Amino acid sequence: MTDIAIIGAGTAGLTAAIYARRAGMETIIFEAEAYGGQIINTPEIENYPGLMNISGYEFASRLYEQATSLGAKLEFDRIIAIEEKEDSSFCLKGTYGTSIDCKAVIIATGAKSRPMDIEGEEQLVGKGISYCATCDGAFYKGKTVAVFGGGNTAVEDAIYLADICEKVYIVHRRNEFRAEKSLTDTLFTKDNVVRMTPYIVSALKSDKRLTGIEVTNTADGSVKYIELDGLFVAIGQIPGNEEFKNLITLKEGYVAAGEDCLTDHKGIFTAGDCRSKKVRQLTTAAADGATAALAACEYLRLN
Ligand code: NAP
Repeated sequence: MTDIAIIGAGTAGLTAAIYARRAGMETIIFEAEAYGGQIINTPEIENYPGLMNISGYEFASRLYEQATSLGAKLEFDRIIAIEEKEDSSFCLKGTYGTSIDCKAVIIATGAKSRPMDIEGEEQLVGKGISYCATCDGAFYKGKTVAVFGGGNTAVEDAIYLADICEKVYIVHRRNEFRAEKSLTDTLFTKDNVVRMTPYIVSALKSDKRLTGIEVTNTADGSVKYIELDGLFVAIGQIPGNEEFKNLITLKEGYVAAGEDCLTDHKGIFTAGDCRSKKVRQLTTAAADGATAALAACEYLRLN
């Protein structure tokens, strides 16, 4: 039986694996997509202490190497159930047939891009709509695009796209941006960036591919049409922990836990963006990973 099973190989999950392995625990990490989590989409990390000029992809690769070189195993499967057994250990079930017994679980599932929920959105993904500027930005070289959102992700995306595209609209529902001031200051030095506030994207226009968006002013209701080649959606994240609510309490979809990373179920811990918390940063994800792993190690020593 594995000592600690970690669900999610983002910054929190991989950090937890490093700490669990250093404490000598047999550790397995399950990842549904690619290791690294959301940070792989960040072109350049500027706010992780001690690291300058590193891309999100390189950061994630180094974390992965560190965790696996210490002996953590990584398997690809989407964990869809945690079942508790009579002896208080757990069995994790995955969509590709995983069935693994473990003594403690760390949920580090992160969060996913929030969709706009506008008619036609799903059909236009990959045909003009993207949720990842660093993945898809190169397809829009010399073209006109918009970024929807006002947080760090949206503003970072718009900065990145401004260097590739001819014109970048940034559409945000309020006049004030949620993003850090240093990022908005950089964005608005770019000549090819057009600020559209306070607006939301209210409709999509297409002819096999996206051809434009309709935007609605949130203050006066007036409507404008913008011709576009691409729309990058960055309106925040949504967690995905519904499968686990048989055993743990969720708060607005996030795993309810404090800074100690303890859930309300013995033997189940949580770390990173999937946890109910105020600050979701790379630094806090790493901190959570360490806290959750050390708490799990203590639990295993005492039980
Ligand atoms: P976020 O900070 O939650 O921002 C989401 C943005 O989308 C907000 O501006 C929000 O508007 C807007 N929004 C939300 N729902 C909307 C809707 N239904 N319609 C229209 N607009 C909507 O999300 P994020 O930018 O993806 O960042 C997630 C977390 O990762 C944050 O904690 C962020 O600081 C962190 N992050 C950090 C870095 C970095 O440190 N370099 C980079 C990327 C992300 P309002 O402002 O009006 O609520």
